[in-house]
Amino acid sequence: MNAAGTETAELRYLKGVGPKRSLVFQKIGIHTIRDILYLFPRRYEDRSNFVSFDKLPIGEPVTCRGEVLDVKFKPIRGMPILEVLLGDDVGTLRVAWFNQPYLRKLFLPGQQLILYGKVEFFQKYLQMANPEFELVEPSQEDSAHIGRITPIYPLTEGLFQRSLRTILKEAVEHQLGQAIVDLLPLDVRTRLNLMPLDEAIRQMHFPVSFAILEQARRRIVFDEFYSFELQLFLKVKTIKSQFQASAFTAKGAAMDDFKNVLPFSLTPSQEKAIQDLVRDLGQTVPMNRLLQGDVGSGKTVVAAFAFLMAERSGMQSVFLIPTEILAEQHYRTLTKLLEPLGVHIELLTKSIEPEKRARLIAELKQGKIPVIVGTHAILQDDVQFQKLGLIVIDEQHKFGVHQRNQLLLRTPRPHQLVMTATPIPRTLALTVYGDLDLSIMKELPKGRQPIKTYWITRKKQSEVFEHIASRIKKGEQAYIVFPIIEETEKADILAAKKEYERLKKSVFPNFKLGLVHGKIDRETRETVMRAFSRKEIDILVATSVIEVGVDQPNATMMIIENAERFGLAQLHQLRGRIGRGSLESECFLFGEPCTEEGKMRLRLLTKLTDGFQIADEDLKLRGQGDLWGVRQSGDAFFRLAHPVLDEPILLEARKEAQALVSGFSGDWIKNPPLWLQKYLEQMPKNY
Ligand code: ADP
Ligand code: MG
Repeated sequence: MNAAGTETAELRYLKGVGPKRSLVFQKIGIHTIRDILYLFPRRYEDRSNFVSFDKLPIGEPVTCRGEVLDVKFKPIRGMPILEVLLGDDVGTLRVAWFNQPYLRKLFLPGQQLILYGKVEFFQKYLQMANPEFELVEPSQEDSAHIGRITPIYPLTEGLFQRSLRTILKEAVEHQLGQAIVDLLPLDVRTRLNLMPLDEAIRQMHFPVSFAILEQARRRIVFDEFYSFELQLFLKVKTIKSQFQASAFTAKGAAMDDFKNVLPFSLTPSQEKAIQDLVRDLGQTVPMNRLLQGDVGSGKTVVAAFAFLMAERSGMQSVFLIPTEILAEQHYRTLTKLLEPLGVHIELLTKSIEPEKRARLIAELKQGKIPVIVGTHAILQDDVQFQKLGLIVIDEQHKFGVHQRNQLLLRTPRPHQLVMTATPIPRTLALTVYGDLDLSIMKELPKGRQPIKTYWITRKKQSEVFEHIASRIKKGEQAYIVFPIIEETEKADILAAKKEYERLKKSVFPNFKLGLVHGKIDRETRETVMRAFSRKEIDILVATSVIEVGVDQPNATMMIIENAERFGLAQLHQLRGRIGRGSLESECFLFGEPCTEEGKMRLRLLTKLTDGFQIADEDLKLRGQGDLWGVRQSGDAFFRLAHPVLDEPILLEARKEAQALVSGFSGDWIKNPPLWLQKYLEQMPKNY
């Protein structure tokens, strides 16, 4: 027994598992009986009711059942095709499996087969291609497998549906009581009308109806959110009670000065974000704030104000930026803005010469440099400050948590502002960045025109090129973006280098083209970027290196080649490089996605310009993907819960968690009550 007493039996002691299989389970992180009880089905099939062969809808996934009448194996042009004819009481169905020759030995006439798949026309005949299937053993009628809502589990090598189902049946029927202790406080459970945990887990695996399944799911999802939020609030409370920051004293005067030097007036969003900052920075509780604003919303200006306030309060600031190109650009922008107010700014990156670096380091230590802009180079051990009061991090996902901690762990603790252009849906922000306070900038500066986006087929590409040429003649500029640098074995994906040559020679011979990508050395890249911003280059051919931050208002057009290769959020970020001036901007997506989801992504982009809406849709699209696939992508904290689709449950859980933790003080923060420790410990890991 461990201290909290939440130990559960190892999986190999479960009937039907044994040492060999338990190794397979270990590979996917399942060690105990409780772990396997939390291995939830990927989907469910209603096998109390099979669709008969005369009623199969076309193009919709269904579950049906029939007897194998005939099995044919016929390779066509080298591709092995297995064709099986099935019959039920009313008709027949043709089923084909492509490229899976090993299935050949599996099917015999007379067998009963359950299929899950779509019926579609194939060369004039209706058939079901590559369905999921399961053979029915006569002894299995009326079991875990048939005659009920049947769980379909995520599979991994060495595990089959049927054996998983049998194992889980055993666990649910005989082990639930020992393995699962419901530690959720009874008052929470009653208030929110949540199912008891053991019942919820039983219903998750073998639901008696879809309505009850929904309630079971709600209970598990609640646990996921509740434990997650509890940990967040405990962490926030710990930080706030343990660490002290310096309160910045400068306020009103700094604001007046700032507004006087700005060449434009602030947007209401910027005003609001700055108010948030003024309030936080004036306190000794360390600020921990996320500034979230769509591309082009003007986050840099907000950061600039924070730097001014720090300087006027006698404190030093760091502006941490993921790439050198961006760091240099921010350095120039800030210098222009703040030097007139007497705020001295320096740049520190890997490319700074040793002598200059030595000077910067000495001056930082003496407190002579109020604002230092730079990349990871700032995180070196020998970079020290006299009185570091503020850290601003741009595009935080590019820095690991560990990296920013290096700067934060000092006394007094610096205030922290994280800026991101990734429009995270509010609910996701509450989870992923839940320990940060949130400032959201919704509007863009006035005078911007929404970017028009078109999805273009190959046939129409030359028209787009002509159109772009005509706008370039008027003095505007364009980006052409490719997903990869060099050609790979995947010949159908255009590569930037080769296409750059082709575009230069045969498509835009009369214009000046430049090329940037991640493998070009920094100086060349800088030279090209500078030429582009001086309008000495008309068309910039690039990879996604231009994704973050590059600012050239005169660039009004963008082509994205093989757009299906980029994610929705990334396409939106890329597109954000245009539409930064007052001229109308146009984005052309070239691409022929082969999946419905891929087409959906491109279609969505042509319709939506609001990054927040796009992010919501993106999550919905990806959220329906295969359970384990999502987990592997690393941005999922939850097994079942979906931060957008389950928003109501998230908000309930958050409210309950906040209420509980706000009642804690002193000792309880360091050492929460035992039931809570147990509750958190009992949550399967990787939550
Ligand atoms: P992002 O939020 O993407 O980092 P930037 O800070 O780079 O946006 O700002 C984008 C552009 O908008 C810059 O050229 C900046 O000077 C300009 N800008 C910022 N705020 C305003 C404003 N209130 N009015 C007009 N232009 C603004
Ligand atoms: Mg920016």
